[in-house]
Amino acid sequence: MNQNPAFLDFRNVQKSYDQRTLVVKNFNLSVRQGEFVTLLGPSGSGKSTVLMMLAGFESVTAGDIMLAGKSIAHVAPYKRDIGMVFQSYALFPHMTLEENLAYPLRLRKEPADKIRVAVQRHLEMVELGAFGKRTPAQLSGGQRQRVALARALIFSPRLVLMDEPLGALDKKLREQMQLEITRLHKQLGFTVIYVTHDQTEALTMSDRIAVFNNGIVQQCDVPEALYERPGNGFVADFIGENN
Ligand code: ADP
Ligand code: MG
Repeated sequence: MNQNPAFLDFRNVQKSYDQRTLVVKNFNLSVRQGEFVTLLGPSGSGKSTVLMMLAGFESVTAGDIMLAGKSIAHVAPYKRDIGMVFQSYALFPHMTLEENLAYPLRLRKEPADKIRVAVQRHLEMVELGAFGKRTPAQLSGGQRQRVALARALIFSPRLVLMDEPLGALDKKLREQMQLEITRLHKQLGFTVIYVTHDQTEALTMSDRIAVFNNGIVQQCDVPEALYERPGNGFVADFIGENN
């Protein structure tokens, strides 16, 4: 029998920062390996909180998170094998791009020759092969975000989290980066949990979208279904909005 369990499974996850208000209420979501799932919701709805719990930077107040069949609720962040790209996730400013990319591999005690090869390959992957000796200050915003992406992918994480990674970029760059992320996802096959408040971005990039509001998944489905059969008034309004 093929049980095919979910790769990532949030089970009744709750989060309260102050022991009174639940910022995340009964969050349930199952994600298949290789899927690109977006949490789409307005500012303040709890999206980043969900990612912080998944990454291990915030505790889970109640419930559990399963990754590849094991609970990770009490596993240290760096042992979760999760790559991250955040809008404000700064590169180390005093390091060159090569050093920035090498960092996650050094942490994992990879041998120097392997690191050198991986760094160059990942710089080329985001079309910055000739920029290895530069520092982040010598790059444009879009280039910096591509370095952040390469750094998140360099240790071949099984899961990549992206929290509004393109929020600081102008429209043209944002569209280029959307294509770039989609291409890398297809090429490398990692699983993505992507967070945005931009419904156009969610609709163009995602396999499935979880529409999130008030700490609750309002509806989770493929983009077409959310458009054609919104499950409630919030989803209809949010997806229908022109923003
Ligand atoms: P989103 O990413 O959807 O904008 P967040 O997860 O950042 O939402 O925030 C959800 C709610 O939790 C907000 O009301 C926010 O003020 C609150 N919150 C987020 N982080 C903290 C924190 N570290 N301490 C207390 N409250 C927080
Ligand atoms: Mg946020």
